Amino acid sequence: MIDALVVGAGLSGLVCATRLVDAGASVLVVDARDRVGGRLLTGTIAGRPIDLGGQWMSVGQPRLAALATKLGVASVPQARDGNALFGLPPRGMLSRLATAFAQWRLARRIEHISHAPPRDAHDLSLAAWLAEHTSNPTARALIAMHAELVFAADPASLSLLHYLRTFAATGGFAPRGPDLPGGGREHRFVGGAQTLATKLAERVPVRLATPVRSLVAGDAVEVVTDTGGLAARRVVVAMPPQLARRIEGAFPAAPSAASVSGPVVKCFAAYDRPFWRDDGWSGEAYRPDGTVRATVALEAILLAFVVGPVAAGWSARDPDERRAEVLGALTEQFGDRAATPLDYLEVDWGIDPWSAGCVASLPPGALAVTRREPHGRIHFAGTETAEAWPGYMEGAIEAGERAAREILEAR
Ligand SMILES: Cc1cc2nc3c(=O)[nH]c(=O)nc-3n(C[C@H](O)[C@H](O)[C@H](O)COP(=O)(O)OP(=O)(O)OC[C@H]3O[C@@H](n4cnc5c(N)ncnc54)[C@H](O)[C@@H]3O)c2cc1C
Repeated sequence: MIDALVVGAGLSGLVCATRLVDAGASVLVVDARDRVGGRLLTGTIAGRPIDLGGQWMSVGQPRLAALATKLGVASVPQARDGNALFGLPPRGMLSRLATAFAQWRLARRIEHISHAPPRDAHDLSLAAWLAEHTSNPTARALIAMHAELVFAADPASLSLLHYLRTFAATGGFAPRGPDLPGGGREHRFVGGAQTLATKLAERVPVRLATPVRSLVAGDAVEVVTDTGGLAARRVVVAMPPQLARRIEGAFPAAPSAASVSGPVVKCFAAYDRPFWRDDGWSGEAYRPDGTVRATVALEAILLAFVVGPVAAGWSARDPDERRAEVLGALTEQFGDRAATPLDYLEVDWGIDPWSAGCVASLPPGALAVTRREPHGRIHFAGTETAEAWPGYMEGAIEAGERAAREILEAR
């Protein structure tokens, strides 16, 4: 019988499995999909590789930087030269002060939460907190948009404590740390972030197209999959909590309150050249009230993010209408040349059955449902269980390393 079966060939499960193999354990990784990488997926548009899922490495993420170096995956700084566009009501001095003050108050709470664990009973939604504490509409809109982009969640259904706790675990509004090699605060991986997963998968046995349906723990763990039964001394469940909940027997009891998926749609429009630079724009643009909340340039590609409530029903709409709406938003921002890209592509993570969204976030009153302690022979990994950088690649690595350590210590 093998020592460990890892369910989930995302970054977290693969890091866990390679750690175990390096320590001499026998391991098998299984995944429901027909590919490895989970929320890391590289695609192409106009012949250029793009990250359809997770993309950027930030400062203050030592595990991700070390893993990329170890695997020989190079990274390049995200270009930011030029001006960013803010499609907001005119931002007078008063709005700027109000935003800075609201952020300062949130930052103080983040600081407090880093020292004293929050009490669930005092939770409310971020939108409710903003309505109570910030009368300036621009300040509210800016903070809400920032939260939508980070959590892919509607601020009206986002737990304030989860919001504060996540920022406390990710270095606040502006994570600190030295600039990444070659400069820049964010880097992208050459050839796409999925390369990290495909390179790790070369080092461990992986069985694809094998959805796990239930776990039966006794002296070992029996693993029931769509393609037959497997057994292992220990099992690691390495996936978002809302998918782990669907595996019968994974949790000792169903958690009372549930994390929810954050829908996000990434839309790519490729052009022959970055024409927006001619007018001094960087390609970065934000709009708190538009379909496209944020736009980022990846060389001659504009990446538009549709998040929160607008993203929830996105794929039910007519594809031509969706494309026209996104290109319309880009045209408003960068002029007529944005209307006719060489190619256009969108990926809706909210309808992906094996991701169920971007990252899991919590509604008010649902703190502390993320399980990271093992129960019996079943262990938990996945970015959502990380202490630092939950929701990010960095967190996925931390959680995978921790689950491997638990298993090695139990041998
Ligand atoms: C659009 C988008 C943008 C993002 N941007 C960034 C970014 O810029 N920077 C950053 O650091 N992070 C980003 N992230 C988050 C990052 O991608 C994730 O934190 C990370 O990839 C999660 O890895 P994981 O292994 O924890 O989970 P996953 O990658 O979700 O892996 C879980 C695996 O479990 C499998 N699985 C699920 N259920 C079963 C089952 N029953 N049986 C078998 N297998 C199952 C799934 O198929 C999947 O492969 C982004 C994510 C998305 C979607």
